[in-house]
Amino acid sequence: MDPAIDVQAKLEAHGVNPTPQRLEIGALLLRQPVHLSADQILQQLRAAGSAVSKATVYNTLRLFTAHGLVREVAVDPGRAIYDSTTVPHHHFYNADTGELTDIDAGAVGLPGIPSLPAGTRAESVEVIVRLRSR
Ligand SMILES: [Zn+2]
Repeated sequence: MDPAIDVQAKLEAHGVNPTPQRLEIGALLLRQPVHLSADQILQQLRAAGSAVSKATVYNTLRLFTAHGLVREVAVDPGRAIYDSTTVPHHHFYNADTGELTDIDAGAVGLPGIPSLPAGTRAESVEVIVRLRSR
């Protein structure tokens, strides 16, 4: 299968018009499970000789997130990492290296969730285990 067609089909299946820029960014994010920040995506595009602007990268990531193609993991204020694995799961986050690693949803036992505020339901629980190198 042509990987370019694969990305295009994915965008279309999520209701995203596959412009050339979106295909370029989608090729980095949607072909395999990855965690990438907007800056890392921009660096990879630049290294490949792409002229896609920073604003386009940010707008495209917002669009992909809104359409469920990627999930935004807010590891730190001002630092979002985009995750191409959209099923619920947890993460190790190494604050020293910036590396984000998946943890299977079933691998984390939760001690219990306090009673929820009136009129709400729990949608999901996401755990980020913050690490420091030693
Ligand atoms: Zn992940």
